[in-house]
Amino acid sequence: MKKFKTESQKILDLMINSIYTHKEIFIRELLSNASDAIDKLYYKSLKENLSYSKEDFSIKLEIDKDKRILRITDNGIGMSAEELESNLGVIARSGSLDFKQNMEGSEDVNIIGQFGVGFYSAFMVSDKVEVVSRAYGSAEANMWSSKGAEGYEITKADKAESGTAITMYIKNDTEEEHYDEFLEEYKIRELVKKYSDYIRYPIMLDVERARTDEKDSSKNEKYVETETLNSMVPLWKKNKSALTEDDYNAFYKDTFYDYEKPLKVIHFSAEGMSVNFNAVLFIPAKAPYNYYSKTYEKGLKLYTNGILIMDKCADLLPDYFSFVKGVVDSELTLNISRETIQHNHQLKKIAANLEKKIKSELAAMLENDREAYQNFFKEFGLQIKYGIYDNWGMNKDTLKDLLLFHSVRKDKPVTIKEYFDEMKDSQKYIYYASGKSVDAIKVLPQVERVLEYDYDILCLTQDIDEFAIKILAEYEKKEFRSVSAGELGLADENITIETEDDKQILALIKDTLGDKVAKVKLSSRLKTHPVCLSSEGDLSIEMEKVFNAMPNAQGISAQKVLELNSNHPLYEKIRKLFVENKDEIKDLAKILFVQAQLIEGLPVDNLTEYSDLVCRKLS
Ligand code: ADP
Repeated sequence: MKKFKTESQKILDLMINSIYTHKEIFIRELLSNASDAIDKLYYKSLKENLSYSKEDFSIKLEIDKDKRILRITDNGIGMSAEELESNLGVIARSGSLDFKQNMEGSEDVNIIGQFGVGFYSAFMVSDKVEVVSRAYGSAEANMWSSKGAEGYEITKADKAESGTAITMYIKNDTEEEHYDEFLEEYKIRELVKKYSDYIRYPIMLDVERARTDEKDSSKNEKYVETETLNSMVPLWKKNKSALTEDDYNAFYKDTFYDYEKPLKVIHFSAEGMSVNFNAVLFIPAKAPYNYYSKTYEKGLKLYTNGILIMDKCADLLPDYFSFVKGVVDSELTLNISRETIQHNHQLKKIAANLEKKIKSELAAMLENDREAYQNFFKEFGLQIKYGIYDNWGMNKDTLKDLLLFHSVRKDKPVTIKEYFDEMKDSQKYIYYASGKSVDAIKVLPQVERVLEYDYDILCLTQDIDEFAIKILAEYEKKEFRSVSAGELGLADENITIETEDDKQILALIKDTLGDKVAKVKLSSRLKTHPVCLSSEGDLSIEMEKVFNAMPNAQGISAQKVLELNSNHPLYEKIRKLFVENKDEIKDLAKILFVQAQLIEGLPVDNLTEYSDLVCRKLS
């Protein structure tokens, strides 16, 4: 007897003692494994000319009520002894359990669906499971058997053809749980219809039927008939009008291991072009936990003529739509090898079509169902922004109208177009402000003047935002402009006149602060607040922060301008001090600079010095 690896053991325990109410899904999991195994052999056969045809394949179900056995047999690729060991003794997806544990407490976590720990689900309904398998091309067969938690055994066995037979010894009914029904023909038929109807190989069950005896009509004659339980038409080939939302949702959850229904389903086909295809695409409601990491793999399932060629064909999706899941079935004429797929121009055509479709569906959602779109954007907006920024803005025109930013005046997310459409005639720029939150932005000293003109401001709260906006540079010929950089194009912008005294005061402050600032000036962007920082040049203060938060930060620095409000009482005081006590101005300069840094969320070099200085002034 061999022990399960620790992680497998834990998942197995979860299965056996499952609080999971849908135990019936074990059948879906095993049938989908069977279908995958046949796919593998069929694919191999096409590649190596093994002369199988699709009709040679099937999945067989057997019920033996007396022995309480339910058996699922496929004539697919099969498993060798080593494969039995490595596939069924260990759970490949390591890390999935950690994740599950992190989510402990959230009740509705469908661990099975989520992680596809499929095979083990058999233990939810069985006391014992036997897997007899013979790998294609091998003469020997083996049996893997287990009663659950303690471990498993692998022994030699007999099997006439390649493939796998899984025998489940169904548990006895208990007060709370009913298992008997998994030995009922009607139930099995119902479950296959419900979960596995689309499987493209026949799922066959021998059923006992009765008919009137030909000779004696008062008698019933029993006979056995093999019934194919599934329609074998994959969902994407079905007529849209014959499908319900539930059908799509169930297909999505089963196929892509999500426990939430998708936010959006896009089912379409293209015909009469140089390439025909059917596609069912899904936009998940939530970003997968690893979405914004290197471990996430984009791609669509690619079938040609009903055969699965690739599980994740990355070339079908641009990076900025990498969140899309789905299936594409086409009549590609391709040499079935992965290398050639990448250079296949038909595939490129399909990809271009899909991209157009996804974009137009997103645009329609934005137009017609704002709430759904906002949810979408919360999950995947970051990816769209990366898309704008990537490749030096190559795709910015495709994506710019999919962006949402929070508007200060409207206090809700708006598109750039919506902002643009409401711009005042006198308004020179599309204004934005960066900060760590909308609330933080609203109270920035720099926003007051712009709002005074009834000009709106877009809030940029994610690290990538300003980079994306800088790549966009303009929208319909209107430039983007940060409220914290350069001139603002306001009508009364240049009314602040520096006197000779002011010039000397500002020079003194600049001298005191040295290299920390590029310039000190009287501000035309401040209204009531005494001080702020702005920047000159391409690098903004927000971008400086982003760069310096990176692991290999090099201490990049924006060209900072310390701006003082000449209408503020403090500046009046400074003017007085200029005559009475210049040294005092130096202290104030240091204090004002740190305050401006703090407002911007910039790190301050020596807070103790600052604190001492302020306390001295207060005492
Ligand atoms: P998953 O199917 O999600 O990979 P499972 O636990 O259901 O996880 O199965 C583990 C592995 O065992 C599969 O990836 C496959 O390689 C193998 N396997 C399971 N069932 C069969 C089968 N009927 N025929 C061949 N191989 C199988």
